[in-house]
Amino acid sequence: MTHARRAAKFLLDEARTDWHDASLWHVRSKRDGSISGIPEWESLRQLGSDIKDNVLSNLDAYLEEFEERATANGVIVHWATDAEEHNRIVHGILQHHGVDRIVKSKSMLTEECGLNDYLETQGVEVVDTDLGERIIQLRSEPPSHIVMPAIHLKKEEIGALFHEKLGTEPGASDPQYLTEAARQHLREKFLAARAAITGVNFAIAETGGIVVCTNEGNADMGVHLAPVQIHCMGIEKIIPRAEHLGVFTRLLARSATGQPVTIYTSHHHRPKPGGEMHVVIVDNGRTTQLGREDFRNSLKCIRCGACMNTCPIYRRSGGHSYDYTIPGPIGSILSPGIDLKKHGDLAFASTLCGSCSDVCPVKIDIHEQLYKWRQIVSAEGHLGAAKRLPLLGAGTVLRHDTLYNFVGQAARTALRLAPRAAVYHRFNAWGESRELPEIPRESFKQWYARTQNPPA
Ligand code: SF4
Repeated sequence: MTHARRAAKFLLDEARTDWHDASLWHVRSKRDGSISGIPEWESLRQLGSDIKDNVLSNLDAYLEEFEERATANGVIVHWATDAEEHNRIVHGILQHHGVDRIVKSKSMLTEECGLNDYLETQGVEVVDTDLGERIIQLRSEPPSHIVMPAIHLKKEEIGALFHEKLGTEPGASDPQYLTEAARQHLREKFLAARAAITGVNFAIAETGGIVVCTNEGNADMGVHLAPVQIHCMGIEKIIPRAEHLGVFTRLLARSATGQPVTIYTSHHHRPKPGGEMHVVIVDNGRTTQLGREDFRNSLKCIRCGACMNTCPIYRRSGGHSYDYTIPGPIGSILSPGIDLKKHGDLAFASTLCGSCSDVCPVKIDIHEQLYKWRQIVSAEGHLGAAKRLPLLGAGTVLRHDTLYNFVGQAARTALRLAPRAAVYHRFNAWGESRELPEIPRESFKQWYARTQNPPA
């Protein structure tokens, strides 16, 4: 199914579409308010972008430096080429310690690798501990946003879910009450877990330490209680020096939720006494993306979600319509690189308005990359006939001046004379919720020639 079809399903629930749109716009507005208090915001973005450019140009050296420092600190570093190897490594660590239940937090990478399903088939119970992640795990569905994974759900739906799964009062939907119920339920899981997995926001080459940014503190609770801690990171999470961290923490929280800083910015450098600390560094297609000149800087992404919050398509089509771990504009430039045939249509899930590029804290040229993917999708023959034929026709008309004038005149006449039902019908998706403006009798060219350059 294409993105357009999945989006159409989401749009059937108009009320949900409206509040989804409004909720995300609210977060985008908080971001705007927050950065307005930072006069040097644009220089900060530039600095973040420059540091990431440097990282991408020296990735191998920084990764090796990180491994050397982390190993010297007593951390066990693993390398995984792809999702399968990542999952095998994590399972191997758990098997070695005889662990059959874990708590997990803050990791889109493990979503990308399908770790939960893999571990569960191996008999390991996985409990996601971020509230939003736990909600969607109880519903057996993927996240719909990288920062707010359950943003597509109303509190009443969460109340019904918690009543069924956690035994809360029927009909209860007070967020405070539901959060408290989740907290009590998770407390038992934290105490029983013998291993904790987290994602990584930043890995510092200079120190060999990793940094995890959260608002709930659950990543810290998991890591501090369980003897074995495992941190899974993509190769692009590296930053060169500790002094660079402040640039990214300032950019990240403001861009994500409009907060000046995330509630917890936790640094992990070495195993706790008697414990074991592992870092699994994963490629899974990133090196290939690095080698694509036009798309390499998509690896600068710090996963703030701002491009989703601002995107008019994402806001009104929902994260599940992208059918990829990372939805929205950034997902639409990462996923075609993984599977062009499956995800190529996501390059068209955009108005190319450029708002995503404007808000991106590390200045990724997202809308330009979407446009480039469209050209590749077309050149490689993955465009459906419904898109290919009209585009061929439009290309021919736009290339020939006389033909363009003729088609324009014919269309203006036809649209003025045609009965309404010929334009607004179920086969014309554009007409379902839009009215064409009044059709003028003359084209802009004709109007311009008549008014700006009248005959002598
Ligand atoms: S592409 Fe930019 S705006 Fe989008 S999630 Fe990544 S860092 Fe944030």
